[in-house]
Amino acid sequence: MFQSALQSEISRIVLISGTGALIGWTGDMTLYGFLTGLIISQLFSVKLAADFFRWTTSRDSPPVENGLIGYATDRLIRRERRLQAHIAELLHQLRRYNDGIEALQDGVITLGSRGHINTYNSAAQRMFRLHPDDIGQHINNLIRAPLFVQFFNQGEFTKALQFDYRSATFLVQVSEFGADQKVMLLRDVTERKRVEVMRKHFVADVSHELRTPLTVINGYLEMLQDAEVPAHVHRAHEQMLSQSQRMTLLVNDLIELSRLESASTERPGEWFNIREICQQTLSQLQNYREGGVLTLVDGEPVEVEGYPDEMRTVMVNLVTNALKYGGDGEVVVRLKKTMRGLKISVTDHGPGIPAEHLGRITERFYRVDDSRDSTTGGSGLGLAIVKHALEHLDTELQIESTPGAGSTFSFIVPQYRVR
Ligand code: ADP
Repeated sequence: MFQSALQSEISRIVLISGTGALIGWTGDMTLYGFLTGLIISQLFSVKLAADFFRWTTSRDSPPVENGLIGYATDRLIRRERRLQAHIAELLHQLRRYNDGIEALQDGVITLGSRGHINTYNSAAQRMFRLHPDDIGQHINNLIRAPLFVQFFNQGEFTKALQFDYRSATFLVQVSEFGADQKVMLLRDVTERKRVEVMRKHFVADVSHELRTPLTVINGYLEMLQDAEVPAHVHRAHEQMLSQSQRMTLLVNDLIELSRLESASTERPGEWFNIREICQQTLSQLQNYREGGVLTLVDGEPVEVEGYPDEMRTVMVNLVTNALKYGGDGEVVVRLKKTMRGLKISVTDHGPGIPAEHLGRITERFYRVDDSRDSTTGGSGLGLAIVKHALEHLDTELQIESTPGAGSTFSFIVPQYRVR
């Protein structure tokens, strides 16, 4: 194609200048005739180039179909068609992608590196009453919930955040992409929160209501403990007493869990000596199990800011578990200063916990081995209580366990709560 275009270009020059030379020869001016032909063919080329240039900026039909300019024109037209097809395909995909995002029930907002809004979908627009003028505005100016603003400014987006805004509750998950850009997924969880609150109230109310009759039953059963009764009645009585005591434990743990769930994290904490609480827990539980050796390993006394009663509950639960499930060996409570804060750990040398249970062990009523655990008389709520209490200290429970070697339950009180 290119070869023939070149040939036709050269043939044109040869033809015009040859004709010029021929005409010149008849008047004995061959050279003049040739040069005139050459100039005419060059002028023709210049005109073609000018037409070609004009064509590139207009939508007219191509200036010429043969020669080098014709060849270049043809190549350009083909390339433009390919590009147009490609752009049409991209636009189609973009439209489909946009339609998908528009159809989402969840709000989607993309943010630029400075936290300003780049795009949003209809759901986000409905949720936060966004307006096209809001594009380019900082997100903190539009979602003015203090919890959200704090979350966004901290820039720690590994976890989702639930926050209240204009009498609704939202769950936001932020993901980063590209050059420090972000996409926010927002879900309206108002209804879910309402059901959750109802469930919490229901559990708390039922537990409170059960407490009084249980106290009465327990009281009478204890009173009748020494009564002269036949052996089979005595056995039944013992069973009743142990089960009603277990139920009391369960109800108390349910009440404790409800209290922790509904406690506000905004209430002021106080400074307390955590070493003292560990020491008191160990003294209190010293006789829990025969042969249970409790050791406290620590540096100097450390003050922590939080809620001492909740810390006591945490320590009692962890140490009781270590004594209950941690075999006959020593239970060690350690306080250790780390870069991130004060690490408190409870280690036992018992049978440990198989890895597949570790992720679920803090769920309510989750027990590793129901048959074995039912004899230990726990409620299955201890670690759920610990988990909630630790959330109030901005920390979480870490569990490391090696089957056959023992377990370590630990948490780090963040540096800003330690002095
Ligand atoms: P429970 O009231 O049954 O003790 P928890 O929530 O405190 O409930 O603990 C949940 C389960 O985790 C327990 O039933 C037990 O199977 C397991 N567990 C807790 N601590 C330990 C530990 N130190 N060693 C082995 N298993 C443990």
